[in-house]
Amino acid sequence: MKTQSKIWMNGKLVPYNNAKVHVLTHALHYSTAIFEGIRCYNTPKGPMIFRLPEHVERLFKSARMYSMKMPYNKNEISQGIINTVKASKLKECYIRPLAYYGHGVMGLTPTPNKVEVAIACWEWNAGESSAGKTRGARCKVSSWLRIDSRSQPMQAKAASNYANAALARVEALRDGYDEAIMLNYHGKVSEGSAENIFIVNNGKISTPPLNAGILDGITRDSVIKIARSEGLEVIERDIDREDLYVADEVFMTGTAAEVKSVTEIDNVPVGNGKPGEITRKLQDTFFEVSRGKDERYLDWFTPVA
Ligand code: PMP
Repeated sequence: MKTQSKIWMNGKLVPYNNAKVHVLTHALHYSTAIFEGIRCYNTPKGPMIFRLPEHVERLFKSARMYSMKMPYNKNEISQGIINTVKASKLKECYIRPLAYYGHGVMGLTPTPNKVEVAIACWEWNAGESSAGKTRGARCKVSSWLRIDSRSQPMQAKAASNYANAALARVEALRDGYDEAIMLNYHGKVSEGSAENIFIVNNGKISTPPLNAGILDGITRDSVIKIARSEGLEVIERDIDREDLYVADEVFMTGTAAEVKSVTEIDNVPVGNGKPGEITRKLQDTFFEVSRGKDERYLDWFTPVA
């Protein structure tokens, strides 16, 4: 992380080393935070943020689901994101807006505390999401079930959802896999610990519906739109665990992961054990689209300059 970069905190860009919170910050104890994960890409027209309005919209929806009153409007947050990226001078980065209950009154009830907002960005380094791009990812069906909307709003990108996801991720890594695939309380496939999932059979693409307890992924939406415009059929349907083992191809999508192929699940090779043809095609197309090299999708970008 570049320590010379600036972080937007409650409307002001502050030096990286000054962007601190109090140890009694409510969110640190009770997970009362919502956030976003966005990418800025270096396109032929300069640094551009991918699907910024959709991410800002989802941030505000996450806040609404928790009755969290955002102290800034969508315009101010979008501008804050642009200014943070601009100040970083990075041409490509990952952007993290975060809204959380601050410190002041300790106890479960968050509302006596102020809602604080921070926006940080850092250089993207494929790191934990590299498996599946350079080679196929090896996944494990987690022993942890994905919590669902009967317990907390899963459409919200809330910090609290990630305790469940991190258990699955850590279990998968500890067992020698690259990523977890989580089933929901109905035994249906939901998503990876931080990615949506798709399967391909006889050239047709399927993905779990939103009511499978998944995040309404913006990459998921982009890939569905790209696939359909390439003439591929995409349906949202319940997917059973056994569907994973007999799929011709499996891939995952996410802002960090982009499109990553899954070539092994529970030590069973997916298809011929190599990244599939449709996965590769979508991976390549998404790569071009996200780098601003496909004229058809330029309206998905917000310039930083
Ligand atoms: N599901 C979960 C649980 C995630 O954390 C993410 C990453 N934000 C996704 C799906 C993919 O969503 P997106 O494509 O919007 O990044």
